[in-house]
Amino acid sequence: VNDELRSVGLKVTLPRVRILEILEQSRSRHLTADDIHRVLLESHDGIGLATVYRVLSQFEAAGLITRRNFEAGITVFELDTGRHHDHAVCIRCGKVQEFNDPSIEERQISIAARLGYDLSDHALVLYGCCLSCSKQSSLLPHALV
Ligand SMILES: [Zn+2]
Ligand SMILES: [Zn+2]
Repeated sequence: VNDELRSVGLKVTLPRVRILEILEQSRSRHLTADDIHRVLLESHDGIGLATVYRVLSQFEAAGLITRRNFEAGITVFELDTGRHHDHAVCIRCGKVQEFNDPSIEERQISIAARLGYDLSDHALVLYGCCLSCSKQSSLLPHALV
């Protein structure tokens, strides 16, 4: 982690090390600033939300991470692996999952070609209700839904 910070010209500080570690160790790979802050609170590092936002902006400027702004005000950060993928976003809890479907990728390339576009990039986002959120709502009495 220390070398990664130095390689992009950032000084090694505790907040930077901790936040980069959290991003690298997260299983979901897509974290909000609040998610990161919550992990920091559990480990009692004394790093506040404002610092989290500042460090994330520095990481973004250094090309270490990518910021994804989705609808419904959902913003997540992920390590910039350079590996293309698309996202599915839960509009209730804000959970972001990634997927890559070769046939969707191919279709998009052929649609772009048909329109005369030399495709440089695309973003496909699926919005919906994730499994755990839809389970929760089915437990509620109908009157509340
Ligand atoms: Zn959800
Ligand atoms: Zn992603």
